[in-house]
Amino acid sequence: MTLASSLPGTAGSAFTGFIAHYIDGQRVASRGGETFDVLDPSTNQAYAQAAAGQAADVDRAVTAARAALAGPWGRLSTRERSRILMRIADAIEERAGLLAEYESRDTGLPITQARGQAHRAAENFRFFADISVGVHEDAFRTGGTQIGYVLRRPIGVAGLITPWNTPFMLETWKLAPALAAGCTVVLKPAEWSPLSAGLLPEIAEQAGVPAGVLNIVHGIGEEAGAALVDHPDVPLISFTGETTTGKLIARNSAGHLKALSMELGGKSPCIVFDDADLDAAIDSAVFQIFSLNGERCTAGSRMLVQRGVYEEVLHRLAVRAAAVRVGRPSEPDTELGALIHPEHHARVLDYIRIGVEEGARLLVGGGRPAGLPTGNFVEATVFADVRPSMRIFQEEIFGPVLCVTPFDTEQDAVALANATPYGLAGYVWTNDLRRAHNVAAAVDAGMLWINSHNIRDLRTPFGGVKASGVGREGGSHSIDFYTESRIVHVSLADVPVPRFGAGGYEATR
Ligand code: NAD
Repeated sequence: MTLASSLPGTAGSAFTGFIAHYIDGQRVASRGGETFDVLDPSTNQAYAQAAAGQAADVDRAVTAARAALAGPWGRLSTRERSRILMRIADAIEERAGLLAEYESRDTGLPITQARGQAHRAAENFRFFADISVGVHEDAFRTGGTQIGYVLRRPIGVAGLITPWNTPFMLETWKLAPALAAGCTVVLKPAEWSPLSAGLLPEIAEQAGVPAGVLNIVHGIGEEAGAALVDHPDVPLISFTGETTTGKLIARNSAGHLKALSMELGGKSPCIVFDDADLDAAIDSAVFQIFSLNGERCTAGSRMLVQRGVYEEVLHRLAVRAAAVRVGRPSEPDTELGALIHPEHHARVLDYIRIGVEEGARLLVGGGRPAGLPTGNFVEATVFADVRPSMRIFQEEIFGPVLCVTPFDTEQDAVALANATPYGLAGYVWTNDLRRAHNVAAAVDAGMLWINSHNIRDLRTPFGGVKASGVGREGGSHSIDFYTESRIVHVSLADVPVPRFGAGGYEATR
């Protein structure tokens, strides 16, 4: 059996092999031998197979993770754990080239954009390694009579379920804080992009992570994912994915009363006022929607443009979008690669058809680019005159499709921005200081940027409102999520207590 870590790493080489589970420090197949095919998005040919985990495999992983909690991992000081996390970061960066090739091959991400992923993933580990050594436990004095002190404990076995867009980065965004908090984990990577997670076992081993602390079960969501959600010994699920899946997971985990963090879909507004720096706003809008193949949860996929500059912005967007280079992910000048999977490709093309049928004005793109007859390629697409009643205004397309809508006043802009079920991110472009802050405060979104695209600061709360999520991760929010705080009260004086059964309701002491 060939393991993912032994797949050839040179660009253009034949990636063939088997992506195994990683349970209790061992690369293993599913107990029943189930597998699924892994497709190359630029050809839709299967180039690898992965183990398809079932309930028995998830159970094996959870058992190992529970045992590891009671093992050396549970006894490490935060400094020792943080050193291991730092070594994981180094091990990731050592594999930056290989990781970029895996990610590009597996997800269709242009190789130039995949190259940044190792650095971001390593930064996730370094950041939470730093944070973990600064975590403190509060103490409270109640008058002179009592003190209370907090015991912060890892919540236990963390169940991590991740999507296929920037898979390695998002897996590490959950692994790093969970491990920093002292949890052990079972990760279920997305079935459309399992390849890069196949590097995690050797990274963990090189860094000295004890067996059983990091477990990976590959598989289909409805099988491996559902089994993790339903496992009674997993008290926490951190999920990133579609809103409909998030709702299902919340329902399925309700019987176990699990702690949940839900990072869900988005349809984020990018609001451009007519006093904005249009050069910067257009650069940002074009980058936001067409980078990462448009498969970015925080993309400003609805551009709301003030009437005075609407036609000029449309013209400039059309020129830029028409020039976006769609091509093979491995080509260094490709800006927009292949969408992840033929099903997703069909879904994005379907939305484009719906937009046309609904009467939106197709400015540019809308189909398969010339010269790329196979694979999941879509032209950079811009719709103008998109109305709030249209499905392409309301629903997440998750592809390279920008919907542009005009507005007149600040109130109109805010009303349009808030007129969808989602509330993940928002972008405001204006040079009017007051308006910038007032609009940012009025838009229902978890994360707002003024005159910028989504530059992240890992200390800040990450998450959405409305249908875009529940809970916050990032910085201390993540540590709070992966730990439980217990309070111990200590009396420093005699405690007055009513003497029930001793003939008096009054406190005697
Ligand atoms: P998805 O919901 O289809 O799948 C996500 C994960 O859930 C996969 O690992 C899948 O196998 C698993 N899953 C599916 N059904 C399950 C079930 N019944 N029980 C347990 N697990 C199950 O999402 P996707 O298509 O992989 O990802 C794209 C979506 O993710 C988009 O909506 C995007 O906006 C969202 N996303 C959100 C963020 C964020 O931070 N808010 C970040 C990235 C992506």
